[in-house]
Amino acid sequence: MKPGAVIVGASHAGAQAAASLRQSGWQEPITLISSENFLPYHRPPLSKGFLAGDQAEDQILLRGEAFYRDQEIELHLGRVVTEVLPDQRVARTDSVAMPYSALILATGASARRLSVPGSALEGVHVLRDMADAKILKEQLAGAENVVIVGGGFIGLEVAATAAKAGKSVTVLEAQDRLIARALPSFLSAYLKDLHLHHGVDIRFGVSLASFEGDGGRLKHVLLSDGRKLSADLVLVGVGSTANCELARRLGLKLEAGGVLVDQRCETSAPGVFAIGDCAAQPNLHTGTILRVESVQNATDQAKMLAAHLTGRSLPPYGTNWFWTDQYSVKLQMAGIVKDGCEVLVRGDPASQNFSLLQLLGDRLVSAFSVNRAADHMAARKLISSKARLDRNLAADPSTPLTGAVLEREYQ
Ligand code: FAD
Repeated sequence: MKPGAVIVGASHAGAQAAASLRQSGWQEPITLISSENFLPYHRPPLSKGFLAGDQAEDQILLRGEAFYRDQEIELHLGRVVTEVLPDQRVARTDSVAMPYSALILATGASARRLSVPGSALEGVHVLRDMADAKILKEQLAGAENVVIVGGGFIGLEVAATAAKAGKSVTVLEAQDRLIARALPSFLSAYLKDLHLHHGVDIRFGVSLASFEGDGGRLKHVLLSDGRKLSADLVLVGVGSTANCELARRLGLKLEAGGVLVDQRCETSAPGVFAIGDCAAQPNLHTGTILRVESVQNATDQAKMLAAHLTGRSLPPYGTNWFWTDQYSVKLQMAGIVKDGCEVLVRGDPASQNFSLLQLLGDRLVSAFSVNRAADHMAARKLISSKARLDRNLAADPSTPLTGAVLEREYQ
């Protein structure tokens, strides 16, 4: 077998790296290995359309099976890369040894689990992959009382799906507001009101003591203040941890909870790269090393790495963006939340059609758009071009956001 690109993990980062390498003219073999038994698929619908039954499994594939065959990408499903021999430049699963010229770690992240008593009871779930989503979907159909531990993006999306399906839903959040790490407080309050309006009970500042069951099956959730909630289904949505086992065994530098990479996604070992949720990279917007968990980051890093490995000019460093769907709200976010920003509200929040803009001086640093896709698309460009905005025009929803630009540092 000729050495080539060996890609460990076949989700947003890994599958995109394989596709972009071929598009960029990579001539050597490409081997893409997934520990999952499914063709690579879009992960976001697992808590949204797929869970709600609006999208079937074959509708959320990243690419059809023929794509990998036609592009001569050797795809191994249900196989785990367990060992890498750096001196020989060989990666191994239990059945195949794959020589590599470039080793790409796209191993992603795993859902964080709780260690409170009762965590192993039937009915206590996490949601990270298709296997989790299938079980959750099946059990949600028969559940009445759903408790979500963690008011983050995944927890709130599952809460919305469950509430829309008529379940009684309670969200437990340890902090005093929702998604405090990634949203300004105005939007935390907005999402809280949205969920309350749909009948979801949200408890702030609560911590969990244990899960109680009967015959191995979940019955109650016990809180640290002694309160007890009936529950036949719990979703634990308390974040994720990067899958760094292989990196650790290879002795790669780790930082900020991920595999440290440079701007070209190269790790501390030459010829070994890391992309997507498992990678921690210096972020040009914040000046810090960040492990970003988003489809955009996984896709952009994969494209950037493919350009680097094929000697093409690197794509420009883009703005971070993300989205969440809850009820009829599509919230799209661009940029990074910064402290000390001036906040402009563009449009009427009561109409479910508005954007919240954060400005440092006159410069747009982040934008949060509720059902205003055009604002979001414009904001992504304006943030990366370091645009300065006229406040009055920016606050006027009838003026396109690009019409409020005073000056751009880059085009
Ligand atoms: P992952 O998607 O985690 O994939 C890594 C893959 O590598 C996995 O299949 C894993 O099993 C495999 N793997 C790991 N180790 C090995 C090994 N040794 N051998 C072989 N295979 C291995 N992002 C958004 O931008 N918007 C959203 O709305 C959004 N919603 C989400 C909803 C849910 C329910 C979840 C779980 C995530 C969501 N995300 C969303 C986050 C987004 O899905 C991730 O940022 C993205 O999947 C990261 O892609 P990745 O390829 O880096 O890693």
